[in-house]
Formats: sequence, C-alpha cells, structure tokens
Amino acid sequence: MALTASPVLDTAEELNPFRIAMSQFDTAAELLRLEPDLREVLRRPRRSLSLSLPVRMDSGKIHVFDGYRVQHNNSRGPCKGGIRYHPNVSFDEVKALASWMTWKCATVNIPFGGAKGGIICDPRKMSKGELERLTRRYAYEISDLIGPDRDIPAPDVYTDSQIMAWIMDTYSMTHGASSPGVVTGKPIWLGGSEGRNEATARGCVFVARRACEVLGIDLKNATAAVQGFGNAGSIAARLLAKSGFKIIAVSDSRGGILNRKGLDVASLLAYKEKTGSVAGFSGAEKISSEAVLELEVDVLVPAALENQITRANAEKIRAKIVAEAANGPTTPAADTVLHKKGIMVLPDILANAGGVTVSYFEWVQDLAEDFWEEGEVNRRLEKVMGKAFDDVHRTAKEYAVDMRTGAYILAIGRVAKATQSRGIWP
Ligand code: GLU
Repeated sequence: MALTASPVLDTAEELNPFRIAMSQFDTAAELLRLEPDLREVLRRPRRSLSLSLPVRMDSGKIHVFDGYRVQHNNSRGPCKGGIRYHPNVSFDEVKALASWMTWKCATVNIPFGGAKGGIICDPRKMSKGELERLTRRYAYEISDLIGPDRDIPAPDVYTDSQIMAWIMDTYSMTHGASSPGVVTGKPIWLGGSEGRNEATARGCVFVARRACEVLGIDLKNATAAVQGFGNAGSIAARLLAKSGFKIIAVSDSRGGILNRKGLDVASLLAYKEKTGSVAGFSGAEKISSEAVLELEVDVLVPAALENQITRANAEKIRAKIVAEAANGPTTPAADTVLHKKGIMVLPDILANAGGVTVSYFEWVQDLAEDFWEEGEVNRRLEKVMGKAFDDVHRTAKEYAVDMRTGAYILAIGRVAKATQSRGIWP
C-alpha cells in the first residue's frame, strides 16, 4: 500500500485519477491511524455500473456510447454526485470522482455519501435531440440505482440544467410519480434552487477570501488567474472581480489571455457568450493555457479538468493560494512541491464543495416543497463554507499537514465514525 503522496522521482508520474484518489486516501488514513479493516471498506467504491447505451443519431445510424455510474459510499446518507459528458471520461476517472464526492460531502458536513456518473461522448458535437436520447437512455439504465433517498445526480463537466430536467422526467415517467428530488441542478421552474448555478464558484470564492484573510493578503490589491472558463471558472472570475480582485489572466480549451492591468470580466463574459471562447478577446495579449497557471498572482483558480498541476510544472507555480474549482487538478507529486514552496492549496473537496452544498439545499427544498430566496441560499452557503474552511484549517494545523491532507483526515474521520456506528451488514 502506498503511504506517501509523492511517487518516487525516477518513475513516471502517476496520473490515473483513481490511483491518485487511493493514494490521497492512504496518506490521510495512515495519519489517522485508521484500522486496516475500515480502510479496506472505505477506499473502494461500493457499486460500479458500466453501461452500453445505444442511441439513434440524427443520421439514422445507431451509435453505442459507454456510460458509468459509481456509488462510492452511503454511510452518511444517500449517494450524491454529478454526471460528466466528455470524450476523455473513463471508468477509473468516474471511480475517483465518486470517492472525491464522499470526502467532499463529509468535509462540508452535509448528510450525503458520494457517487459520480459519466458518459464518453462529445456533447459539443451532438444535436439537442441526440443529447436528449442519450440522456434518457442513460437515465433509464441507472433508474433502479438512483432516487431521492438512494443516489441523486447533478451537473458536472458539459452537463447542465436541461440534462437534469430530462433525467428527472425519465425517472418520474418510469416511476409513476413526479420526483424532483431525484436530481439537483434542475431549472428553477422544475424545483431547482436559486443560487445553484453560481454555487460552485461562490463557495470557491468564499474560501479563497478566507485564505487571503489568514495569509494577510489585502483583497483590494489582490490578483487572480483562472484556468477554465466554463460554469465554475467564468462565474468565479466574475465573483472574484466583484470582491475586489484584479483578474489578470484566464484560459479555456482554445487558449489563454493576459492583461496585467486587469481584464474587464463583464465584457469578457459577453465575448465568450458570443464566440464560445475567451481566445481573441481584445484588450488582452494571447498566452498559452499552461502559462496562465504559472503567473505570479495571489490566487490561482484551476477550474478545468484533472492533472493540470503536475510534477512537470509544480516548481513553476507562483501563486500564493491555489483554489481548486475543478476536481483533481493537482497531482500528489505536485502537492508535495507546492507545500514545500509554501503555497496554500485549497483542495477540491473543500474549494468546490459549494456546488454540492447548494445541491443539498435544493434537495431539502424539493422534499419540503418549500423554496428559499437567493439571499437565504447564499447566507447558508457562506456559513457552511466558512465552517468547513475553519475545520480543515484547524485539522491541517493539528496534524502539521497541508490543507488537502487536513481535509481528508477530517472527512475520512467523519465517514469512518458513521460506518462504525452503523456496523457492517449483515
Ligand atoms: N459535479 C459537482 C461536483 O463535482 C456537483 C455535484 C452535486 O451537486 O451533486 O461537486
């Protein structure tokens, strides 16, 4: 069993997300002195479903897609986690993302376990009709596994409220009752929550601001760079700018842009809306996506995919704080380097937990059939994120470890306690 987060230097770096997730778990479990039996239970996914999904494409031809749903753990409540549509989805990636959901829900102390789904596809190249047929087929195939008290999907990379509406409808039609609580991230008019769309970014900005306070960084003179300009990244840029940060660089899958005087985020959002990318935005110079990660800034927000900060570029990172809006952007080897350099990494399971926190609020509102105003949602979110930041920070100090290991120790401790009290059935 690997007990250290950093692979030996002369071997190729481990980039398999599930093996990375296991090594993050092992590092914290060892520090917690978690008993071996419990380790074996908690490090593996409880259920993993692999699916073949035949879909009639607009051309008339049938294409069979690969899809997955993995339920990692339900000790603390129903499984919870998004569904990702992306050409690079893999079974191991979905398993890693499912386990990260377990630790994320425990870090912010909401009563859910962890799950994740994914389909290997490129939704940018599919028509709306193709996407609907694929989504409904997938929803039907997982419908025995999911449910408001079993497993509750949500959006993730390249999935949105429309896709959640189709899942909710497919589940409701096949179960004979309208069931809004089966997914979160729905349109507001179908039982979605105010503030859910911004929640991942809002939570990330809350904890980034707390970290600035702890490190004595003045928000009025603070700078930030954002890698990835999708739901999390673009809204994080907007909210950081609103908090006083100068956003000097951003990137998306087509390239990066830099303006050391600060980008006009409102115009940039309008430009992205029109052209589909930040590349080519006037009033900024062109830089590579990699260079965006390596700028000297107070806060760097990786908001794209896994394995962006690795052993190859960790030494070049010059941010004071890395706030992980994405899941898994930093490898364990890079973590070791960043920690040595004194960079505070706000780990994904803390920094992007605002999304699932407001998903929890949405689920509570659906079950109670009683809906809150956005101010109420944001106030509650700030309270949850503030408490989680303090819990993680305290645990990291207590064990003299980085914030990621602190978050894992906190989360694994909570899940272990629930598992022990429930006992192993039968
Ligand atoms: N996909 C988001 C995440 O990775 C949200 C999950 C949810 O709301 O269930 O945290």
